[in-house]
Amino acid sequence: MNHYHSIAIDGPSGAGKSTMARALAQEMGYLYVDTGAIYRTVGLAVYRRGADPTDPVAVEQVLGQVDITMGYGKDGTQRMYLDGEDVSKAIREHIMSRYASQVAALPPVRAFLLEKQRHLAENHNVIMDGRDIGTVVLPQADVKIFLTADPKARAQRRYLELLERGQQADLEQILADVVERDRQDMERPIAPLKKAEDAQVVDTTGKDLEESRKVLRETIAKALGQEEEA
Ligand code: C5P
Repeated sequence: MNHYHSIAIDGPSGAGKSTMARALAQEMGYLYVDTGAIYRTVGLAVYRRGADPTDPVAVEQVLGQVDITMGYGKDGTQRMYLDGEDVSKAIREHIMSRYASQVAALPPVRAFLLEKQRHLAENHNVIMDGRDIGTVVLPQADVKIFLTADPKARAQRRYLELLERGQQADLEQILADVVERDRQDMERPIAPLKKAEDAQVVDTTGKDLEESRKVLRETIAKALGQEEEA
């Protein structure tokens, strides 16, 4: 029997999942798993080979030819490797969001990731963030959170993130992309983005990072049956 704890955090992009999950994992001594980064790495592999990200046969072929691994840096950050190359930065390019979302709709890609993700949860206490962790990957997770915020607030955060990284950004375009990605993720037939029935909703609209983190921390502590420190 699995004696490790798992915390599933699902929700749309830009709700603050990765930033908060990473910080909480560090506080709690859990392994943080950013599953979106794995889909992004598959997207990058497909992009680099010039394959069509909507063609399951072409994408499956790429999957069979590449080596995708993950590791953790000295500071505990998750790193992604494609054929041995550290692509952790390359997968954050704006265009990779679309590629990731397109390949993520394909059954061979989801099957490829499912085993990797479950294996991690069987061997560690994990905080795993994604779209289908509470519904498909870890339906027995000890805690399930559905973290969300309204699309405008999420687009604004993505916009500031890109500016901070020195990338060009257009707020209107980002909002359109956020809405389109939500649609793609929610409407796909396989493992769509949706709240697990037993997930607790945390809405970060209008909350800054500190406030959001506090609510999330309290929700998790309560669900694990621990008292929050004063
Ligand atoms: O979380 P992030 O924005 O990096 O994820 C990129 C894309 O990967 C998402 O838009 C979604 O389509 C896909 N994804 C997924 N299931 C997950 C995590 C990410 O389908 N568990």
